[in-house]
Amino acid sequence: MELKSIPYGNSRIDFCLKRNKRKTLGIKVYPNGSTVVTAPIETPYDKIAVKVKSKAQWINKQKDFFMLFEPRTKEKLYESGESHLYLGKNYRLKITESNTNSVKLKGGYILIDIKDKHNKNAIEKELKKWYKSKAMIHFENLYHNRLDLAKELSNKEVSLKYKWLNNRWGSCFIDGTIYLNLELIKAPKECIDYVLVHEICHLDHHNHSTSFYKLLTKKLPKWKMSKDKLEKLLS
Ligand SMILES: [Zn+2]
Repeated sequence: MELKSIPYGNSRIDFCLKRNKRKTLGIKVYPNGSTVVTAPIETPYDKIAVKVKSKAQWINKQKDFFMLFEPRTKEKLYESGESHLYLGKNYRLKITESNTNSVKLKGGYILIDIKDKHNKNAIEKELKKWYKSKAMIHFENLYHNRLDLAKELSNKEVSLKYKWLNNRWGSCFIDGTIYLNLELIKAPKECIDYVLVHEICHLDHHNHSTSFYKLLTKKLPKWKMSKDKLEKLLS
């Protein structure tokens, strides 16, 4: 088995090449993201590379699919080709050097213009700024849809705030302030809504008692599904 790497767009496709007596070439992507190409002994490497390149889109799709289930804890490299989540979908980074910094979503890509593409901290900062700008829009919309529920459960002035939190998805304070973790912008909207409704239910029950869960289930019957999805995606 040999480790190979071929350029593809702004990134590369890495794969293990196995030779055996089979007649056709086979490509398999494993849940850990590794790609194994099995080729007939006599096929020249050039031909294999062309074939792998023609299958690049499919390979990336498979990898993205498996990545949905992979823990997020892996440290990000902020390099072109790396996958980053936004509203539950994986997008690939495409980093370009430019005089001005900007982040844009286009097709399956998050396009980042940055002064120095080797400055990972700067890229991370720009990306976080972009995530925050998106979170403001989507969190506010979701909150707007749940305003009636908040009013029903509390006679205080309820307000929504968001910040990067390390170890929780949200919190609810006695004064009626609800915090959402900005990290949630990486999850599907139904998961963000689940956290929001969970926190809103805390306006009535400031604990995780049976009555709290009764209320949550009444207001969001499928909350457990969204919770599982969130934990699979972002834990
Ligand atoms: Zn809670």
